[in-house]
Amino acid sequence: MSEEINGQAKKIEFKEEGKIKISELPLKIEVAGGSFLHIGAAPSPLTEKKGAIFKVDRTPVIPATSFKGALRHQLELLFAEKADEFAQLFNIPDDKKDLLKPCIPSPRPTKAEEELVNAGKYRKEHCEIKVNEEQINVGNNGICPVCYFMGAAGLMGFLRFSNFYPESEGDIIDQTNIRIDRKTGTAARGAKVEGEQVKPGTVFKGIISIVISEPILEQFGDARKIGNVVIDKWLEHWQETDKEKRAKALIEEILLPAIKNIKMLGGQKSRGAGKVNVEIDG
Ligand SMILES: [Zn+2]
Repeated sequence: MSEEINGQAKKIEFKEEGKIKISELPLKIEVAGGSFLHIGAAPSPLTEKKGAIFKVDRTPVIPATSFKGALRHQLELLFAEKADEFAQLFNIPDDKKDLLKPCIPSPRPTKAEEELVNAGKYRKEHCEIKVNEEQINVGNNGICPVCYFMGAAGLMGFLRFSNFYPESEGDIIDQTNIRIDRKTGTAARGAKVEGEQVKPGTVFKGIISIVISEPILEQFGDARKIGNVVIDKWLEHWQETDKEKRAKALIEEILLPAIKNIKMLGGQKSRGAGKVNVEIDG
């Protein structure tokens, strides 16, 4: 069985995998002209190189974790920027607008993060499900909207991410820091490669899977309950009763804009690295 809804950029197909209904969103990430990409590999005793990039079988890869970090950040910014619009969309009463604030997903926020909380942009508590004496406790505001998509401590989100692999193989690593012998004009003997980069124009492809429905997470777009405790309180007031319309609104009003707002990935930003364009592929 397959149903379709009209996505903003393309038709999103639902497919069933066992009892889980998933919608796949294929994405294309292009390294922007004039920039390069540097996602550092963990230092390993096997590589003598400094500044090696993350690779799988010698191919540069954008790991799912890097993309997830960038998407979480964009979702946070979107909820800050469109707080009023979303409050209206989700029928959130004026005195409950804190429900839409994202959390800082750590029990120990940094000083800079604490300032964001004090400025009222983020909620004070990070999202976590606590079970005390068989009582479920998710605080007054429940799980934040960003963790609804991305997951929180002890609770899965509705999105799954693949790694992103380059579209075509070839000469995509530019080892620019090889020292050139001033006399011969070729690479100096013993010159160490100090950094690897992925060239501008390189295209990576990957997939975000949206769990539309499954036995434990229930339905994407609904406020989840554990026992009789509603954990996604930000969705509790929404008047929309059509399940498909709810899922579609979350994809079109939140997920797609946040994806398109991703303009930076990886490290060495001070050297001009990391500028990317992200598009729905198809
Ligand atoms: Zn959260």
